[in-house]
Amino acid sequence: MKYNTDLHYHSPYAAACSKDISIPVLAKESKIKGLNILTTADSLHPIWQKHIKEHVIEKNERLIFKEDKNLPEEKQTNFILGCEVESTKRVHHLLYFRDFETLNKFKKEILPFSQDMEKYGGGRPRISLEPDKLLDIAIENDVLLGPAHVFTPYFGIYSHYDTLKEAYGRNYKKIKFIELGLSADTKTANTIPELKDIKFFSFSDSHSPKSFRIGREYVSMELEKPNYNSLEKLLNNHKKNYILENVGYNPYEGKYNSSACKKCAQIYTLEQAEVINWKCQVCKGTIKKGVTDRAKEISIIQGNKNLKEITKRPNYRYLIPLAQVIQIAINQKNILHKTVLEKYDEFTKNHTEIQIMQEVSKEELEKIDKNIARYIIAFRKDFVVFRPGGAGHYGVPYICFSKEEKIKKEKEIQEEIKVKVLQKKLF
Ligand SMILES: [Zn+2]
Ligand SMILES: [Zn+2]
Repeated sequence: MKYNTDLHYHSPYAAACSKDISIPVLAKESKIKGLNILTTADSLHPIWQKHIKEHVIEKNERLIFKEDKNLPEEKQTNFILGCEVESTKRVHHLLYFRDFETLNKFKKEILPFSQDMEKYGGGRPRISLEPDKLLDIAIENDVLLGPAHVFTPYFGIYSHYDTLKEAYGRNYKKIKFIELGLSADTKTANTIPELKDIKFFSFSDSHSPKSFRIGREYVSMELEKPNYNSLEKLLNNHKKNYILENVGYNPYEGKYNSSACKKCAQIYTLEQAEVINWKCQVCKGTIKKGVTDRAKEISIIQGNKNLKEITKRPNYRYLIPLAQVIQIAINQKNILHKTVLEKYDEFTKNHTEIQIMQEVSKEELEKIDKNIARYIIAFRKDFVVFRPGGAGHYGVPYICFSKEEKIKKEKEIQEEIKVKVLQKKLF
């Protein structure tokens, strides 16, 4: 069966996360969105673990939301025990656990290396272990581990290492998945030779339970069962468990997509940034290397000079959260504005958000709201252009209504983001 799966976000006990996140809220929001499998997230944290045990029960080899127990299986929200941890160099890793017993055994082993695992804010604990040591302990304890948002500056494995081998040492071949992160898609990473046999995940990394955050990236998986065992089989190339498609942001919308000035957001090409020694020509701020440029760099270091795609992979489908499309359509600055939320509720009354964005007929959408329907259809036709994100600033989508308009808008954006204060002889 097909399951829409989001296995990376956080509880209120991780730093900078919404206090509104709870298992019941996640279960409710995921049903509106159309997600079937979630992670329990932050499962190492004692208070959150207690909360998980209060709301998640085991039934028919699945972990399900307790209140769903009398619903038909296909309507239940399923969970997989997981969490994110930070190793040395502040690199983030995703972990998945077979059961609470495995989880707590692993926790016991890493607890001596953590100061904050049991504290408020320690939902994503800091572990003073190198990535290779962390992986060794994960393997010894039968825990799945892979690097989170691999290209992201500061926290992604590739922002500190050029290869997984260098990071994870002798056991690096036991890495079965990476998470792409919001600023990358399959294409970005598929030029890196060492990732050839590694699965690509796209998850939301949400810090809020709101529908435009959770599931803003997810993976459609064909699984025998919505549980850890099937996920493990998927990672080991079992023929009945595989990725159908990755769904998520157009990488241009991600906040680390392009190389850009941290202060004024001016975008630079890699070549330009190198010539000016990563100093912004507009405001003298520092230019942060973007995910796209970093991925290219790693591909070249690993011998793929022509940046050819390495292997055939499942489709990557772009998605803009419905609330954001509504916000654009009614020209409302605040995504939490009453009208945006009311329209969102109207659209998701009889369908999930994923169905609305992908398959509900134009006629049916028009019955709800003609103007917004026009924007959803334009999105489906791929008439979307982005002002690329970079250095911590999200990219901005513009929805057009024809190919011609799209081309015109693309040109406008190119002109707008061009470096204007230039040392002309350099570029
Ligand atoms: Zn992270
Ligand atoms: Zn600047």
